[in-house]
Amino acid sequence: MAHIDTILAQAGNGSDDEKSGAVSSPIYFSTAYRHPGLGRSTGFNYSRMIQPTRKILEDELAALEHGQRAFAVSSGMAAIDLLFSSFLKEGDNFIASDDLYGGSFRYFDDISTKSGLDYKLWDGRNFQKLADLINDKTRIVWLETPSNPTMKIIDLKRTAQVVHAANPQTILAVDNTFLSPIFQNPILDGADAVVHSATKYLGGHNDILAGALILKEDGPRAETVYQNLVTRGQVLDPFSSWLLIRSLKTLHLRMARHDKSGRFLAEALKKIPGVDKVLYPGVGGMISFYLNEKYDIDLFLRGLKIFSFAESLGGAESLITIPSVQTHQYMSEKRRNQLGITSNLVRVSVGLEDQQDLLDDLTQAVRGAAIK
Ligand SMILES: *Cc1c(COP(=O)(O)O)cnc(C)c1O
Repeated sequence: MAHIDTILAQAGNGSDDEKSGAVSSPIYFSTAYRHPGLGRSTGFNYSRMIQPTRKILEDELAALEHGQRAFAVSSGMAAIDLLFSSFLKEGDNFIASDDLYGGSFRYFDDISTKSGLDYKLWDGRNFQKLADLINDKTRIVWLETPSNPTMKIIDLKRTAQVVHAANPQTILAVDNTFLSPIFQNPILDGADAVVHSATKYLGGHNDILAGALILKEDGPRAETVYQNLVTRGQVLDPFSSWLLIRSLKTLHLRMARHDKSGRFLAEALKKIPGVDKVLYPGVGGMISFYLNEKYDIDLFLRGLKIFSFAESLGGAESLITIPSVQTHQYMSEKRRNQLGITSNLVRVSVGLEDQQDLLDDLTQAVRGAAIK
């Protein structure tokens, strides 16, 4: 198989060779596809089932994550819902790592109360505990690593061994939004499924809402997911599919830059007076830090000139999020405090701007936030 950089840059090229030889894949807006006769088909029929532009994207996503089958859907939450609604029924249970995207918590609480599903949280460290939590009704173990927003790392290989030894039928699923396939390949580490909010690094420009579910195998599980997707219908539209193919062509370059500037800022932030503690997983463009209590968060946010105070990540434009009032606002204060998601925790998505300009912006904004 070609290297990932080649797969990314070449996506869609050659897809229209029979008609035009277009290098950038055409966008097919047609929802209906003509059949030459009864029982005969071009392979396409109706765009909720299968759609040419989306198909190019899905084949690429599968290749990027070393899976055999991928589904491109309307958002990251739609991808999570596609996975959970495909495999869980009343009486089943699932396990999730304890520091997650806030929307995932909201979703898990929703399905557990409405659909009679039991779920337990795992700290990502105690493997004996994990083995003890898994039983014959455990359908999914859900992980996010590095964790969001406190950047804890979970050992994926070890988790996969423990999960599959405890119950070979349990699906190990990993939310790979933060690192992308450039820095982490959960399927190679033993996971059965990978989910992305493609709204973030895969899209990379703060302009597409999209999600992806990638499965290790194109077998019965893939068929179950496909049938469920046709039934529920949260597919990605043709224009967003094309935009995502286009965005992915530079994923490797963007991630290399996010990572370089991320490492630089994570080190430099530690030396800024007013920054108490920096949380950085050692790779990628996501950093969290605690602002000292003698500094005012609102003044800090108002003082930023390059960073935008906004709720997302992974784009060209650097963003700053306050998890306690944005991404994780849904969680109870008690749960937030247990996880360290306090009101002075700041999450930084390092964009593609000059790294020194970004450091200067953070430095001046922190300095200006000192309470007199
Ligand atoms: C944003 C995000 C999601 C949800 O994705 P949407 O595209 O907003 O629906 C899930 N997981 C992580 C880690 C995220 O950052």
